[in-house]
Amino acid sequence: SAKRERRPGYVRYHPEMGRAALRRASLSRALHAGLQQQAFRLVLQPQIRLSDGEVLGVEALLRWGDESGVSPAEFIPVAESTGLILPLGTWVIDEACAQLAQLQRRTGLPLRMAINVSLAQWRDNALLGHLDAAARRHGLQPQQVEIELTESLAMQEVDQLLPRLHALRERGMRVALDDFGTGFSSLAYLQHMPVDLLKIDRSFVHEIGCSRRGEDIVRTIVSLGRLIGLEVLAEGVETLQQEDFLRGLGCDATQGYLRARPMGLDALCDWLARRRVDGVADA
Ligand code: C2E
Ligand code: MG
Ligand code: MG
Ligand code: MG
Repeated sequence: SAKRERRPGYVRYHPEMGRAALRRASLSRALHAGLQQQAFRLVLQPQIRLSDGEVLGVEALLRWGDESGVSPAEFIPVAESTGLILPLGTWVIDEACAQLAQLQRRTGLPLRMAINVSLAQWRDNALLGHLDAAARRHGLQPQQVEIELTESLAMQEVDQLLPRLHALRERGMRVALDDFGTGFSSLAYLQHMPVDLLKIDRSFVHEIGCSRRGEDIVRTIVSLGRLIGLEVLAEGVETLQQEDFLRGLGCDATQGYLRARPMGLDALCDWLARRRVDGVADA
């Protein structure tokens, strides 16, 4: 009633809110069905070394349905809040390893596969077992498997995550801190975090050539990485100007639309073959 709405602590009803909640509920049902119906697939986006243009690996990015489908930014949070992220994440791990093995057979290249892992998966005792099983089943070296967690999650849960991160690294798997720069890492923590790679968030890369402050943040992250001996990769590189700036700073690698969009396995094999013919020095 109108009376209740005026009480402090009550949230006023908005039609928009109802619509969002309904959409989440129907998304959640559709996600469950989608997992059963194999409606998910992975696309792979190349990661490229800045010094010589060599392809180092690919990141697996989840897709639901066709091109016009719902974006991961919308359905991943729903999968996280309903617990579906656990079976879905296990599928992603196995499928990513299967695709990396295929990629290696078809191209002869010993690439790496970066896999995004949500907090609920990190908290799950079965995570390491799933990773071991997938790497073994598809004949991959542990060094080829890189697990991404976002910097903000890493910092919120650092004490619980540390043993798991150490266990991963002891197997030889790699750890990347995703969306770096958005999570307020303290230097003290970072120095002791068992991680290999910092991925600069694309919101900062976007500022290159636009704002001095954005450029300063990018410069600071690259120097920080060098100082504590971590690799640094810049996400969302879309222009030559951004790429030149990053190369000038000594950033190790990039991932972005300038060089390659996320692609299916067949398209990726074609793309890699074409690069070999054309030569890599197209920068
Ligand atoms: P992320 O892990 O930070 O992935 C990078 C995102 O940036 C991807 O969006 C990618 O398509 C996009 N991107 C790459 N290069 C460019 C560029 O040059 N410009 C622009 N504007 N965007 C670029 P996508 O595929 O929509 O994924 C969004 C987020 O969803 C991911 O961010 C990740 O947090 C999450 N996600 C995707 N796949 C998975 C998955 O398998 N598991 C989990 N837990 N999360 C996933
Ligand atoms: Mg990622
Ligand atoms: Mg990211
Ligand atoms: Mg992200």
